[in-house]
Amino acid sequence: MRVLVAGSAGFIGSHLCTRLLDDGHEVVGVDNYCTGQQRNTTDLEPRDRFTFVNHDIIDAVPVEGAFDLVCNLACPASPTDFATRRLAILDVCSRGTRNLLDLARDRQARFLQASTSEVYGDPQVHPQPETYWGNVNPAGPRSCYDEGKRFAEALIASYRMEYGLETRVVRIFNTYGPRMRRDDGRALPTFIDQALANKPLTVHGDGSQTRSFCYVSDLVDGIVLLAQSSATDPVNIGNQAEVTILEFAREIIAQAGSTSEIVFVERPRDDPSLRCPNITRAREWLGWEAKVDRAAGLARTVDWFRSNP
Ligand code: UDP
Repeated sequence: MRVLVAGSAGFIGSHLCTRLLDDGHEVVGVDNYCTGQQRNTTDLEPRDRFTFVNHDIIDAVPVEGAFDLVCNLACPASPTDFATRRLAILDVCSRGTRNLLDLARDRQARFLQASTSEVYGDPQVHPQPETYWGNVNPAGPRSCYDEGKRFAEALIASYRMEYGLETRVVRIFNTYGPRMRRDDGRALPTFIDQALANKPLTVHGDGSQTRSFCYVSDLVDGIVLLAQSSATDPVNIGNQAEVTILEFAREIIAQAGSTSEIVFVERPRDDPSLRCPNITRAREWLGWEAKVDRAAGLARTVDWFRSNP
């Protein structure tokens, strides 16, 4: 296949590019380094079948030739970004997604969207199945991302219903692994950074809120299976092992062999209290479930952070 990956310099996008190249596909990466890292492109560039276009997808994407698959993984995705890049996030989710949909339509390619568990907001159904419509504050601090991604899903559904475009939507739950941005403000890179420096880990609130952390190779397996499948409805991909943030902080301290303490700091507004995927669709439609448990994934990730200061 010839595949376009928007967001190729990002955490998940770069892992997806690596996997597609390993599988023998040709990959055109697109990124504007808004939050992506130049190093991810530098690591991919020696590969024969990889080319890179430095471009912001909110303008039509200047690429020639046929594509079989267009993947949209371009979007700032951490709560820190939600506070500093609100309008850029809304633009990339709306105009950016539409440009990629037009490209896919023009080249008769399949389109795959990286959506998110954030479409469920602060969920009142737990664990979250894809049939749950969510509980999102449309005017809150996270709304640029949550509503941006919801709007993108609406756009994609409309291209599918109006033009018959082949579309796939993966709703990605919290994912972690090597190549996460150390300073992106999310719990895992923040905690690992703090633990390796023997500084206090900053747990928001009392740490009783939960998340379910999926190792990046498992997520990429799920994305590849979804791209090949006939599933036009959204599919959750996430690890089902739910943990409180306080327990997660303790696990990272232990994994890093750190002497750090835990401090409790103010919890951000609209921070979801619970999050865990219902993966019945992924199991039944794709034959997917997570393979890497948190202990193994954290060991690999802490090692990577330690050797990439
Ligand atoms: N969190 C925390 N300390 C930090 C960063 C995050 O306690 O330094 C909490 C955050 O409030 C949330 C959870 O960890 O409850 C996961 O946050 P993250 O930013 O990783 O992802 P989210 O699931 O909110 O998108």
